[in-house]
Amino acid sequence: MLDNYIENNKKQLIQNLQELIQIRSVISPSNHPQKPFGDSIDKALNYILNLGQDLGFRAKNIDGYCGYLEFGTGKNLIGIIAHLDVVPEGTGWTYPPFSGIIHDNKIYGRGTIDDKGPLISSLYAMKAVMETTPINSRVRLILGLNEENDWKCIDYYKKHEELPSIGFSPDADFPCIYAEKSILTTYLKMDYSAYLNQSIVIQEINTYGNPLNVVPKICSIVLRINSIKITMPNFIQNLKNIIKETGFEIDIYKIDEKEVKLTSYGVSSHAAHPDLGINSISRLIVVLSKIFALYQINIELFDFFNTYIHTQYDGKNLGIAFEDESRKVNIKCRRFLF
Ligand SMILES: [Zn+2]
Repeated sequence: MLDNYIENNKKQLIQNLQELIQIRSVISPSNHPQKPFGDSIDKALNYILNLGQDLGFRAKNIDGYCGYLEFGTGKNLIGIIAHLDVVPEGTGWTYPPFSGIIHDNKIYGRGTIDDKGPLISSLYAMKAVMETTPINSRVRLILGLNEENDWKCIDYYKKHEELPSIGFSPDADFPCIYAEKSILTTYLKMDYSAYLNQSIVIQEINTYGNPLNVVPKICSIVLRINSIKITMPNFIQNLKNIIKETGFEIDIYKIDEKEVKLTSYGVSSHAAHPDLGINSISRLIVVLSKIFALYQINIELFDFFNTYIHTQYDGKNLGIAFEDESRKVNIKCRRFLF
């Protein structure tokens, strides 16, 4: 019976999701004490609270900061933490961002995945359990309203409401994440002034404004020959040999008889998935460390990078590579969720 429930209610579920997407729940300035995140976010909250009440849940608006829908009885409180606010739509949409329109079996619109779709799915999953399966706990769908900005919603909730005994947040990759990676922003710095009289000198570095949390797609560097003993054709040939040896995609552009520009190409990806990207900066540094070594110039930073980081993203050479058995857990979760 539980299996058929969602199928039997699919039409209504999709319609509710479309209606929710049509509310442009982006944060806006507000002086209203009961609508701290603005009128449209408040509208989205009221939409869900009314819908939840119609579906038979207990509903609570927590001073406009957040809300919840709940069913069941018992000491345990299972929390499902979702949010109704979305980031601004930006530009470049194929379909209008607040239409909830369906094309090729897909719903389009800002917030469809993050996090309105998962929120509505959770609501109907709760309804399915409520109607078909007796449980001895309370289940509470917590409705965040400020997740995309300052998390004031959940701060307010924690101050004023009961915390779940156990919970999950349907706002990440499917099927399940039970631990989170951290991000460590590290700067490797060196004083380059002592190297300015070397036979090859770095004139210019360009990373094209790459954000910190994106694997860099492109970067370039300008090298200057500072010695009459090195000729440009010879220098370029050495660069070509090294680049060929690495197999990296790096262009060589001769600016004049003294300067050459190297442009390294990779594949951009979110920093959470470095395995999907190719780091253009790492590749260029590997080549630079080899070319400088060839001319007996020892740049400590490049040597360090080449030895301990190279093109790795798992910290193997640093001795910090680590893996757990999460994939096994994921398989179990997949079975559970289906
Ligand atoms: Zn989210």
